[in-house]
This record gives sequence, structure tokens and C-alpha cells, in this order.
Amino acid sequence: MINIVLFGKPGAGKGTQAEFLKGKYNLVHLSTGDIFRYNIKNDTELGRLAQTFMDKGDLVPDAVTIQMLQSEVDKNPQAAGFLFDGFPRTLAQAEALDAFLATKNEEITATVALEADDNILVARLLERGKTSGRPDDQDEEKIRNRYYEYNHKTAPLMHYYAAQNKFYAVDGIGSIAEVTERLSAVLDQLHIK
Ligand code: ADP
Repeated sequence: MINIVLFGKPGAGKGTQAEFLKGKYNLVHLSTGDIFRYNIKNDTELGRLAQTFMDKGDLVPDAVTIQMLQSEVDKNPQAAGFLFDGFPRTLAQAEALDAFLATKNEEITATVALEADDNILVARLLERGKTSGRPDDQDEEKIRNRYYEYNHKTAPLMHYYAAQNKFYAVDGIGSIAEVTERLSAVLDQLHIK
């Protein structure tokens, strides 16, 4: 299996690039943010729980997120691989993911971060908030809190994967096609086909 983790701060373009990558490499795309929003829309117990955290721009607790992610993986036994988007976001999640994949004799193939400056991204998110309907995109304070969460809890994961020689970074600023090109160059060099 090919298992890719896509990192990037809020607004860095993970969702947009994931659309392309999942097709090119035949991966099942799992976006924890999308799964939470789907649950909120359908008013499930999980959705109601997640919403209290998401609306403030806080991370949803690890135990909840890890369990949800594992059940989504298990729903796709035929997958040729996964594209994890928005997961892991904490060290506990990364360790749980490694342990979970190991039980299936699988592992993370590579992680790629889309890099971009916070100020550019905040402006992008406020713009997206005008049409996305996402409460967490409409208030600069909540957006800044998401960057705080990212910088404190998610950024350290880059070291975790670098220590396993599985970390790559690409410049996330440029046209969608340019960024896609950069991501493909990294993955193709790993001979992921
Ligand atoms: P963005 O990257 O733009 O913030 P996402 O859709 O990936 O958007 O995530 C939206 C929100 O969903 C996060 O702010 C957080 O509250 C919650 N969330 C998503 N993934 C995780 C995760 N792996 N762990 C904890 N919370 C998460």
C-alpha cells in the first residue's frame, strides 16, 4: 500500500491538492475535517461533540479523532492506499497511526507539507469564509487559534517523520497547477506510481 500524509496549515491547499493526488495515485482520500463536517451536517453524536471544538478552532480530542480515523480506514479494506489529509495533527495521533498501520503490516510511505506564510493564509481563509459557510473561517481570532494549534501541536510532527526519513516539504505558494507539479515531483521521485 501507498500511504501518504499531507500536511499544511489551515488554508494551505491540502483539500485542493488531495483531489488531484488521490486520482493520480489511486488513493482513498480521508480528510478528518471533511468527516467531522459531514457528521455535523447530519447531526450525529460525533458531529455534536466535534462541533464544540471546531467552532473555536481547537483540535478535537485525540481519542475521538483516532477512533474515527481507524474506523474510516477499516471501511476501505480494498484500498490500494490512503491519502491522509488533516491527520495526524498531534504526536499521539501520529504514534497511534503508525501502531494501527503496523497491525496491518502497513506503514506510512511519505509525508509532504505544503508550506506557506501565516499572513497569506489568514487572508485566504477570510476570503474562503465569505462563501464556505464555515464558522471557523469567518473570525480572525478563531483562524489565529488554528495556527496556534498547528504551530504547537502539528508542526513538531515534521521532526517525527523526518527522523523516519519520510518527510518532504514543498512551497505551497503559486498557482494550483504549480503546487501540484511540485507535489508530483516529490512523489514520483519516490517511485510511487
Ligand atoms: P483546516 O486545515 O483548514 O483547519 P480541516 O478541515 O482540516 O481544516 O479541519 C477543521 C477542524 O477540524 C480543525 O480546526 C479541528 O477542529 C478539526 N480537526 C480536523 N482534523 C483533526 C485532527 N486530526 N485532530 C483534531 N482535530 C481535527
